Amino acid sequence: MTKLKHYQMFINGEWVEAENKKTFETLNPENNKPWATVPEASSKDVDKAVKAAQKAFDGEWPKLLPRERAKFLRAIGEQLRENAELLGKIETIDTGKIFRETKKQANYIAEYYDYYAGLADKVEGTVLPIDKPNVQALTTRIPIGVIAAIVPWNSQMFLTATKLAPALAMGNTIVLKSSELAPAVIFEFAKLVEKIDLPKGVLNVITGFGDPCGKALTSHDLVEKVAFTGGPETARHIIRNSAENLSEVSLELGGKSPVAVFNDANQENAINGIVAGIFGATGQSCIAGSRLYIQEEIYNDFLKKLTERAEKIKIGTPLNTETEMGPLNNFKQLEIIENNIKKTIEQGGKIKTGGKRHSFSNEGYYFPPTIIECDNHNLPAAENELFGPILSVMKFKTEEEIIKKMNDNKYGLSSGVYTSDLARGMRVSKAIRAGITFVNTYRLISPSAPFGGIKDSGYGKEAGIESIKDYTRIKTTWFYTSDKPIPDPFTIG
Ligand code: NAD
Repeated sequence: MTKLKHYQMFINGEWVEAENKKTFETLNPENNKPWATVPEASSKDVDKAVKAAQKAFDGEWPKLLPRERAKFLRAIGEQLRENAELLGKIETIDTGKIFRETKKQANYIAEYYDYYAGLADKVEGTVLPIDKPNVQALTTRIPIGVIAAIVPWNSQMFLTATKLAPALAMGNTIVLKSSELAPAVIFEFAKLVEKIDLPKGVLNVITGFGDPCGKALTSHDLVEKVAFTGGPETARHIIRNSAENLSEVSLELGGKSPVAVFNDANQENAINGIVAGIFGATGQSCIAGSRLYIQEEIYNDFLKKLTERAEKIKIGTPLNTETEMGPLNNFKQLEIIENNIKKTIEQGGKIKTGGKRHSFSNEGYYFPPTIIECDNHNLPAAENELFGPILSVMKFKTEEEIIKKMNDNKYGLSSGVYTSDLARGMRVSKAIRAGITFVNTYRLISPSAPFGGIKDSGYGKEAGIESIKDYTRIKTTWFYTSDKPIPDPFTIG
């Protein structure tokens, strides 16, 4: 039997096991076999990591000139570029995401570190127009302290970058918890960070389960902010936990993002965008465009072309560079999808393509691109986030009707509109209650574009200029400017 690869946690600049020596296996979704083991952090390990981060925060790190911290960020970016192949490979083995995407993303994510390195010395304060004589007051932005960054398995390098880069730029220290469902790539990332000699304790990397690890981290009394990406139910736990330490919380949660195709859309463009939006990353993307509405006149023709395109997607082993769609990440997800599809069919949903486990599924968690026609968007597959390659399709007649339908879901993360009429694209975008709207495109990210949702998709934005301020607090400083003593405090008037 081949020996499994083993990772350690990175706490206070050292590689360590869990104090109680507990470990767990991480599975390769392609074949359902363990390929690596990782320590399982207990509340003791969490405490050790948080205290290391607090010690680093009490040390030199927040006092460095912003430009000095920026050098570390650029060095992280360099490491990512140089090691994109390795990071991509490990992420693919652990998550099942296709290698050409994970490698490209590891490379591109370097841009986030560069972007926030550039912003590090551009966060300014204000001078206040105070209503009293002989005083001057000003505000400055100060770092928050220890940040708990918690990420889900599906895009860990990206979701880590959107938290770490602004947090480090502003002088905070971090405990990063990787997902128990695919922890390896974050430990590979920590190895790269070790190479750049970041001061000890500035970044600590642990992994473990929601309980006890996540719970202990989010309720630790030295944690000042929790930057969380994951599902809405976990978010509710985190908000409850934050009642213990009164930490600030930012939440990037799930979605059931609607996409509308109008009669006048460029159909080839729309099909490419829809396929990228729901079948890219096997649909395991928080912004997956999973509710599709097609305008009546083109409905049959467009759906036929879309189905033909979906059936051409090459499913296979994710490390193969020809593969366009790999497996789902985990078995639980496969079961959730099957359950929702079954209920949708029972309630009248009609499968156009897919709908059953792929033949590779004997070994791994393969599910084919699936399109289901639904009479209404209250059927389970059209209403629930499935986090898989499942597209529910419905018809619409008018602009007014589609706006109502697009907004009729508890989530509000992303949305898409395909039309040749840009005025209409703008009107619909303004009317949709979602954090992001793509017009005639889909599934784009950029360091300069704020990312995040509203409603049950969470609050707080990641990426963009404003996000750097989310890793600071405003401090007000008062100066007395007269050369005479302050008046007697008991002399009124
Ligand atoms: P999840 O909520 O189950 O887990 C996310 C992280 O939270 C993991 O690291 C997990 O260990 C941790 N966790 C679990 N319980 C916890 C607790 N009680 N306290 C603290 N931490 C806890 O999510 P998942 O199933 O791994 O990921 C899928 C979800 O993430 C989907 O809903 C998806 O839409 C969402 N997501 C959102 C975005 C976004 O930016 N909006 C991006 C990617 C994924």
